Amino acid sequence: MKYKRDDRWLLSRLDEIWSNHFPDVKQNNRVFIRFGRSSRLRLGSIKLDKKSGNSMITLTGMFKNDHVPSAVVDHTIAHELCHYTHGFSSLRPKLHKYPHHGGVIRQELILRGLGHLVTAYKAWVKKYRKQFKYA
Ligand SMILES: [Zn+2]
Repeated sequence: MKYKRDDRWLLSRLDEIWSNHFPDVKQNNRVFIRFGRSSRLRLGSIKLDKKSGNSMITLTGMFKNDHVPSAVVDHTIAHELCHYTHGFSSLRPKLHKYPHHGGVIRQELILRGLGHLVTAYKAWVKKYRKQFKYA
């Protein structure tokens, strides 16, 4: 069955990744996820709204396209969830000085059994960059 890639689908992906791979990470604020504008360079982000205390994960609208492997979408969601876990754009204690400190995201993903997403993302981004001549 094919799913329509909308914000509801994103939420179901977030739910699945969170409950299967981050069960120890308590959700102590409200977390939203949505598609943003179609950015080619910024694939995902997580922001904490200081007023409401909510975290908002935004993924590039480009990921609505079925040509982008769902593992790549999952990788981006899991990446943002690592930031949340490490206390960036969440109410959790900050574990590192910088969000991408020394490959902590990659390590966290592998530790949580998501190494296959890292592999899928690497393969995709290589082709993707070639396509747009970024690298
Ligand atoms: Zn990041």
